[in-house]
Amino acid sequence: MRRTDPIIVGAGPAGCAAAITLALDGRKPLLLERSAEVGDALCGGFVSWRTMETLQSLGVELTGHPITHLRIFAGQKRASAPLPQPGHGLSRHAMDSALVKRAVHCGAGIERGVVVRDLKSVSLTQGAAVLLATGKQDLKGHERPRLDPDPALGLRIRLPASPALRALIGDSIELHIFRKGYAGVELQEDGTANICLAVRKSLLAQAGRNPAALLHQLAADNPHFGDRMGGFDARTRIDAVANVPYGWRQTADPHGLYRLGDQCAVIPSLAGEGNGIALASGQSAARALLAGIQPGQWQKDFAQRTRRPVGLATGLWRMSELPLGGRVLTQMLRAFPSLAVWAADATRIRR
Ligand SMILES: Cc1cc2nc3c(=O)[nH]c(=O)nc-3n(C[C@H](O)[C@H](O)[C@H](O)COP(=O)(O)OP(=O)(O)OC[C@H]3O[C@@H](n4cnc5c(N)ncnc54)[C@H](O)[C@@H]3O)c2cc1C
Repeated sequence: MRRTDPIIVGAGPAGCAAAITLALDGRKPLLLERSAEVGDALCGGFVSWRTMETLQSLGVELTGHPITHLRIFAGQKRASAPLPQPGHGLSRHAMDSALVKRAVHCGAGIERGVVVRDLKSVSLTQGAAVLLATGKQDLKGHERPRLDPDPALGLRIRLPASPALRALIGDSIELHIFRKGYAGVELQEDGTANICLAVRKSLLAQAGRNPAALLHQLAADNPHFGDRMGGFDARTRIDAVANVPYGWRQTADPHGLYRLGDQCAVIPSLAGEGNGIALASGQSAARALLAGIQPGQWQKDFAQRTRRPVGLATGLWRMSELPLGGRVLTQMLRAFPSLAVWAADATRIRR
């Protein structure tokens, strides 16, 4: 069988944004997605004002738990500053469900339960443009480089948002900075508190490669974080993702395909802009494809758009990992709240 309409591998935010944009132009893109149904992907759940604008431009209207402030904790120190504009605490289940629904409504096809293993066979046998949107998972032959000897990994738990937890977190996105990592904490629209960590692999190794032991240890060592972890017990599900190549950007295209989302740029998650970049890349690549712009040219152009937000977020993430980095960031936030406003804005992808 030959297809001339584009094939999109992965129905996360990036793949869906591309599918919606192509379908709105009358094309019949096909999404190939390995999971049988929409899940709740590991994510901090912070949706920025800019990401909301992109969602709206795709015809997706969503509201999450309002987030108006950034709060940072490092040891006993804490500081808070208003965000430039309100963000949202939104579960990935809600966002991904709405995006898939919109894509199908616009005319995109979707095949679920399809694990694409060989990208070449998809493009060669069917002869269509291929958009690679597999996010955190790399495809054989298209791996992102693993240069860091002590790579970052993500851990995520969701706790029922009890009244006590609601009172603690409120309308803030919290960053709890500790040695070799941080935890992002926020309330979501689904009645949960999302607690998502990015830590170095060696930190997990020190905890005997046991994520639950690591979480208990961090809660014991960091009192403010411990307060939020009160509901964590042996029944709590822990999601994990390994080898997150923070700071990496794809600047060229050696394979003749459009690489989207985490497959084209991985912004350190403390910026809370990965979903924004994913949506923007899908929308932008689809427009490029419709305009006849070659993948290599588009990849180069889009890499320019991600340079500032990814560069700045990577610098802040590295700084937070320095021995006194968390304390310095907390003091800076306290002394210059306007700096936080600037950094929060500068780590967004421009529309
Ligand atoms: C610890 C952590 C916290 C984060 N917190 C935030 C945050 O608060 N806010 C924010 O904006 N961003 C955050 N991010 C980043 C955000 O999660 C990603 O940038 C975003 O998910 C990228 O979207 P995507 O569509 O590229 O990939 P994904 O969301 O990973 O979607 C990829 C899709 O492809 C499918 N797939 C994978 N392989 C195959 C295959 N072989 N065949 C078929 N289908 C396949 C998957 O099942 C999935 O549905 C965080 C990331 C981490 C690691």
